[in-house]
Amino acid sequence: MQIAKEKILIADGEETIREMVSRIVNQSGFEAVTVKQAKQALEVLKSMPFILLIADLKLPGMGGLELIKAARSENPDLHAICMTDSLQDYIDLIASGASDYITKPFTVGEMKAKLDRVNRERSLIRDLTQKSVELERLNEELKRLDQLKSTFISSISHELRTPLTVIKEFVSLMIEGHVGPVTDDQKEYLGIANKNVLRLTNLIETLLDFSRIESGKRLKLRFEPVRLIEVVEDAAMTISQQLEEKRITLENRIDPDAPPVLIDRKRMAEVLINLIGNGIKFTPAGGKVAVDLRGLTEKRDYLKVVVSDTGVGIAAEDLPKIFGRFYQGQKTEAGLITGTGLGLAITKEIIDGHQGDIRPESGAGGGSSFVFTLPIFGISTLYSLILDPMFEEAEQDKLPLSLTRVEFWDQRAGREVALNRDSWESVVYALQKLVRSVDVIIPFQNRVVYIFSFIASKMAREIGERIQVKLTLGGYLPKGIEVRFKSFSHPGEALTKEDFLKGCRLLLKED
Ligand code: ADP
Repeated sequence: MQIAKEKILIADGEETIREMVSRIVNQSGFEAVTVKQAKQALEVLKSMPFILLIADLKLPGMGGLELIKAARSENPDLHAICMTDSLQDYIDLIASGASDYITKPFTVGEMKAKLDRVNRERSLIRDLTQKSVELERLNEELKRLDQLKSTFISSISHELRTPLTVIKEFVSLMIEGHVGPVTDDQKEYLGIANKNVLRLTNLIETLLDFSRIESGKRLKLRFEPVRLIEVVEDAAMTISQQLEEKRITLENRIDPDAPPVLIDRKRMAEVLINLIGNGIKFTPAGGKVAVDLRGLTEKRDYLKVVVSDTGVGIAAEDLPKIFGRFYQGQKTEAGLITGTGLGLAITKEIIDGHQGDIRPESGAGGGSSFVFTLPIFGISTLYSLILDPMFEEAEQDKLPLSLTRVEFWDQRAGREVALNRDSWESVVYALQKLVRSVDVIIPFQNRVVYIFSFIASKMAREIGERIQVKLTLGGYLPKGIEVRFKSFSHPGEALTKEDFLKGCRLLLKED
């Protein structure tokens, strides 16, 4: 069977030229079709497929360039060569979409060379198109696999969490002797089991964090004023076994009188566990990890915290990469390090969520340190971390927003008072149960609770009254203490953002 040859259309008013070019075209392995004028050319082009149009610039009818333009607007893949008498029309020629030109008179060799060139160009374009189609397909496939992987990680981590919680509970019950006496050996083994369950739990939490970051969901933080030293103590407790095993001392050098920070306590403990944990991992036995304060930032609204160790340090070339997902740098002196390479990525995300920053410092004298900043509890950080984002969210979802200040009044003394620790804790707990999970409760210094809530002024007053009733009748308060509240709402009492923020400032300023 004969394979049909690819066709080339030759359009020229002069018969000799048509014949000459036809011959060259046929010799080059194509099939030549000739026409005398532009109109004919367009008709022929419509009736069968051509790969190339060779047209004379002064073609009878619309002229060569017009013809090329018209033909290519019908079929953008059509190549075109224009035969001209001079080079003057070069710009028009390019604009018409012609791929090349040839000046008359030309030799057979010159025309052949032009044909070869068009042919090479065609096969290049064909290759490129094929490759880009292939790449597109591969890209789609990779996206699909990536999505599958994310879904897999997410669902498997959720699935693993439940049985693990059950195991943890039962192991704890046994260790504590609630299901009968345990021998020392049994206790030791259960302890090992327990430790490994904790390790698995941490790993799963990391995976869940990772799949959340991957799906682009923002971290939900629950801000509260906290003493940093306590968070360091929480972290130290969690990590005590690792410290003991490697005989590493942890120095908590946080000043107990440092101003309270406005943070998500659990998440910040996670940050410290990650950083201290890395310190332990990359420090030889007998070394030291320390947590220090390094004063305030320039604007004085953030504390600088440093976690440092006496370990192997971080290689300069690793520094820019360590916050990347799955990045693991050097190995410890013991050889293999265990980890996921996600710790610092998650740590950075949590610090970012507090609008702080974190950077590594590798001391030339050995050891590494990480310096990060934490918001100090105060009006400015209440604004930037809570009020501003909530206002934005309210605007977006067309919701009202209220700030309610709850305080405690001693009737006999005639002034505002702080509650003792026990009643304070139960009051805060009761309030947390009274508001919705999207609302933010900020308890402060045993004497004020701020409630940021997506409700309008009438509702805010109702909630305030409900709080009064619940706390008074529920026996939460010592005798003679009553609950007072004030609230300020948008758009009820303030139409613009400025007015609302100003009003809130007054409520917050009373401290
Ligand atoms: P991993 O789970 O591997 O610890 P991280 O994200 O926490 O992952 O850390 C990434 C990399 O940063 C580590 O593999 C290590 O190379 C480097 N690194 C982090 N902390 C320290 C440290 N205190 N000392 C030396 N290297 C560190």
